[in-house]
Amino acid sequence: MVFSYQYVRSFRLQGKVAIVTGGATGIGAETVKIFVENGASVVIADIKDELGHNFATSIALDTVTYRHCDVRDEKQVEQTVAFALEKYGNLHILFSNAGIPGPLSSILEFDMKEFSNTMGVNVGGVAATIKHAARAMVGRKIAGSIICTASVAGSFGGCAGHDYTASKHGVIGLVRSTCSELGAHGIRVNSISPYAVATPLTCGAFNMEPAEVEAAGHVFANLHGTTLKATHIAEAALFLASDDSAYISGLDLVVDGGFSVVNRCLP
Ligand code: NAD
Repeated sequence: MVFSYQYVRSFRLQGKVAIVTGGATGIGAETVKIFVENGASVVIADIKDELGHNFATSIALDTVTYRHCDVRDEKQVEQTVAFALEKYGNLHILFSNAGIPGPLSSILEFDMKEFSNTMGVNVGGVAATIKHAARAMVGRKIAGSIICTASVAGSFGGCAGHDYTASKHGVIGLVRSTCSELGAHGIRVNSISPYAVATPLTCGAFNMEPAEVEAAGHVFANLHGTTLKATHIAEAALFLASDDSAYISGLDLVVDGGFSVVNRCLP
C-alpha cells in the first residue's frame, strides 16, 4: 500500500490525549482542530463556556470535550487534569495557551491589580497547568509533551504592554526552568512565540479590525505576500506535540515570518 503525505500526517497524534487551555477560540481553537485531525482526543479548558461547548460539539462528540477551567484557579486546573484522565484514560500533551493581553497603559500609570491579573493568567495559569499535567505524566511514566504559548513580546520589549511583555518573558522562563527537571522523566517542555495573529485577543487589545492586524504583519514580517494565521501556530504546536520533535526540549519556537530577526529584536 502506498501512503500519501496526507494519509501519514493524519496519524501524527493517534491515540494521544491532550488538554488545550484557551481552546474555545483563536489559536487554541485552531490547535484543537489540527490535534483532532491527527487522531488525538482533546479536552478544551476555557472560561467561555457557551462558545467552548458549541465548538466542541461542532467538531466531534466523542473526541473533544469542553470543560470550564479558569487557569488562575489551581483547583480547577487539577480537576481538569483529573477529568481528562477519567474521560480519555491518559494525558500525553498539554497545550498551555490561555492568555490575556493586559493593558497598554504607560508605566507611569501602572496598575498593580491589572498587573497581578495578567501575571495570574499568563504566568500563574501556565505554572499551574504544567504542575498538574506533569504530575499526571510522571505518575503514569508518560513521555509527554508540554507546549506553552509565549509571544515575540517574551523575547524583547516594545511591541505590547508592560504587563503582557513581562508575563511572556515569564512563560519562556518557566519553560527553560522546568524542561530540565521534567526531562529527567522523559517529558519535553517547549514554547511557541507568535507574532501578531488576527484573533479576538489582538484585535481587542489594539482596537483593530482583523484586516488591519494582518496588514501590520505584512509591513513588519519577512514573508512577502503571506499573512500569519492561527493555523501556522497550530502547525507548530502539532510539530512540538508529535514525535517529529522527539528530541526538542527547552526551545522557544518563534513563528513570525522572520520579524524578530529582520527587526533585530533577537540575536
Ligand atoms: P484569544 O483571545 O482568541 O484566545 C484566548 C483564549 O484564552 C480565549 O478563549 C479565552 O477565553 C481564554 N482565557 C482567557 N483567560 C482565561 C482563563 N483565566 N482561564 C482559561 N482560559 C482563559 O487569543 P489568542 O490570540 O488565540 O491567544 C492565545 C495565546 O496566544 C495567548 O496566550 C496569547 O497571549 C498568545 N499570543 C497571541 C498572539 C496574537 O497575535 N494573537 C501573539 C502572540 C501570542
